[in-house]
Amino acid sequence: MEKIMDAHIHLDHYDQKDIQLIMDELDEINCTNLISVSFDLNSCKKNLQLAKQFPQVKPAFGFHPEQELPSDHEAAELFNWMSKNQNEMAAVGEIGLPYYLRSENPKISLDPYIHLLDEFLTFAKKWDKPVVLHAVYDDAPVVCDLLEKHNIKCAHFHWFKGDPITIERMIKNGYYISITPDVLYEDEIKQLVTSYPLNQMMVETDGPWRFEGDFTGKTTHPVMIHESVKMIAKLKKEEPSFVYKRLYENTKLFYRI
Ligand SMILES: [Zn+2]
Repeated sequence: MEKIMDAHIHLDHYDQKDIQLIMDELDEINCTNLISVSFDLNSCKKNLQLAKQFPQVKPAFGFHPEQELPSDHEAAELFNWMSKNQNEMAAVGEIGLPYYLRSENPKISLDPYIHLLDEFLTFAKKWDKPVVLHAVYDDAPVVCDLLEKHNIKCAHFHWFKGDPITIERMIKNGYYISITPDVLYEDEIKQLVTSYPLNQMMVETDGPWRFEGDFTGKTTHPVMIHESVKMIAKLKKEEPSFVYKRLYENTKLFYRI
């Protein structure tokens, strides 16, 4: 088996038994590192704990946008904690804009989310950390505007979906995307793989999020990345070993591992 890294997982969201199972099996599946992203302050603390327990875990600290905003006090507390733990922080994330929350409830205003994201980007720039972004469809150009404003180049749009003009802009700006196991059955993602350069691509599970197709009913596990890489190689018409190496090196370089 060739070497892989999971560029985006919520390891802290698995139960204790599954965390142990995944960590025990990492060597066997040749997965050297996991970028474990955070949901809120508690999740940051848990990911830091996991990183201390398992050296393969590289934690990202942030606030997931698909939830109610933190109060000013909670946000200040989070920034304070991140500041104190910046040496342990591989990246700022997961951060972004609440596309799915607003699809369910269009009354939710985007402005305060943009404001919070702007604060995270200010900090990421100051701390010189990569950013892990949740920004899909109409939200992606808004996030591109912010990244350009902050002159941030080290940006990873995880599980990206969006229009061709934004895709062109992201490629030109040197931003990275990551591909989840749904590349095995989603035409939209297959199309994205063919149009996005391999040298700005990574692979992820976004676990414990569950997948469909052959993965239906299965607990999401980094082993699934092997299937994704083989599909990416097929779509790119490249040798799997070449694609494995490229995706691995991209992640290593991007997250400075
Ligand atoms: Zn995520």
